[in-house]
Amino acid sequence: MSHRVVVIGSGFGGLFATRHLERADVEVTVIDRTTHHLFQPLLYQVATGILSEGEIAPAMRDVLRRQANARVILAEVSGIDLTARTVTAEVGGRELVTPYDSLIVAAGMGTTYFGHDEFAGDAPGLKSIDDALELRARIFGAFEMAELEPDADARRAWLTFAVVGGGPTGVEMAGQIADLARRTLRGNFRNFDPADARVLLIDAGPRILASFHPRLAAKAAAELARIGVEIRLGGRVTGVDAGSITVERDGGASDRFPAMTKVWAAGVTASPLGQLLARQTGAELERNGQVKVLDDCTLPGHPDVFVVGDLMSLGGLPGVAEVAMQAGHHAAGQIIRRLAGDSAPRRFVYRDLGSLSSISRRFAIVELGPIRISGRLGWLVWLVVHLTFLTGFKNRLGALLHWVISFCGRGRSERTISTRGLIGRGRRS
Ligand SMILES: Cc1cc2nc3c(=O)[nH]c(=O)nc-3n(C[C@H](O)[C@H](O)[C@H](O)COP(=O)(O)OP(=O)(O)OC[C@H]3O[C@@H](n4cnc5c(N)ncnc54)[C@H](O)[C@@H]3O)c2cc1C
Repeated sequence: MSHRVVVIGSGFGGLFATRHLERADVEVTVIDRTTHHLFQPLLYQVATGILSEGEIAPAMRDVLRRQANARVILAEVSGIDLTARTVTAEVGGRELVTPYDSLIVAAGMGTTYFGHDEFAGDAPGLKSIDDALELRARIFGAFEMAELEPDADARRAWLTFAVVGGGPTGVEMAGQIADLARRTLRGNFRNFDPADARVLLIDAGPRILASFHPRLAAKAAAELARIGVEIRLGGRVTGVDAGSITVERDGGASDRFPAMTKVWAAGVTASPLGQLLARQTGAELERNGQVKVLDDCTLPGHPDVFVVGDLMSLGGLPGVAEVAMQAGHHAAGQIIRRLAGDSAPRRFVYRDLGSLSSISRRFAIVELGPIRISGRLGWLVWLVVHLTFLTGFKNRLGALLHWVISFCGRGRSERTISTRGLIGRGRRS
């Protein structure tokens, strides 16, 4: 019987681990609660109508169709038994127990509201296709509601968009909402000018894009201000309800902003599977729930169990796609070497390929060690990198076409929203 590898998660870590096992004498079972491999860095473009969901979330089954030693299971993992070496997953009331010889856990992170889970209903996060489509309905729906609203204050609230979190996700969302309002929707409405929309970017820290060099972050902030994003720093969100958001400033005073649309891009917390592993191995957890792994990405005392990607904590590596891809690749490589008789653990060495963030149409920042680029050239680098990493030729072609439409012209081809989302919003207001 071939060596059985179970991979939990079809994100960057899971996909890169599975692909690297293509020629190995193993049977790979990939278990994910979604049917797709999600390119999370472009979720904001689905939420703001630039890309279609299919372009950033190809079916995992299709991605792996030529990999004969891999199968895909749609199910939510609820249990991992490291003694019995089994993974338990559930779907549609059915329980599946899958035995493994090696296990790769790449279950990623979810959104956290820092103890304020009650914010979730009014301020969705941006971690999944469901989140992106919900936000798309809320954003485009808000402009529709503004068109029908006779009261000026209420209309102003429909036209105020508050994005919480000044990291790359928040910055990209805020930039694209501003661009949507100022360019794409120009001339689309009769009772108001979409350019009057107010876009707030709220962050508790002293500056946005804290992971970037201060000079690049300052250039990004200037570009956001130019396109009409209002940056509010040093303020903690203390209240969110259907019609407003309240921010407490450092001095203690509070500002309440009437805003019907809120986006939460402020915090992530590790998959609960991390706790499950920690309980059985004594592995330590970070405050955000990441599992501290040994330097070969395995759990203490369990050389057959790897934790990779966002769920892994190793030497302060950031939760970015490149870390997940390289760690997934590393775990698979270690399994292959072990099967060839070399069981010595190898240290995971991360090769930093830099970070980038797209701020507005044709303006991005790029940081690679001492190299820092911003503006149009940064945007071209951003374009090439994202085209390279999108999965599948068809998706790359589709994305390129949509980018031409949105960034050379001013249109957006993915403005369709579900009526259910729209009516739901109207009723709640
Ligand atoms: C909005 C956004 C923008 C980002 N932008 C960038 C960027 O510009 N550059 C960058 O490098 N990184 C970016 N990131 C981070 C990057 O996407 C992550 O670092 C990367 O996705 C981590 O890969 P992963 O495989 O560890 O986890 P993920 O890609 O999150 O995959 C985890 C998978 O596990 C599945 N899963 C979780 N729990 C279970 C369970 N119990 N049962 C079954 N399946 C489960 C999930 O469905 C998911 O498919 C961004 C992230 C987000 C959310």
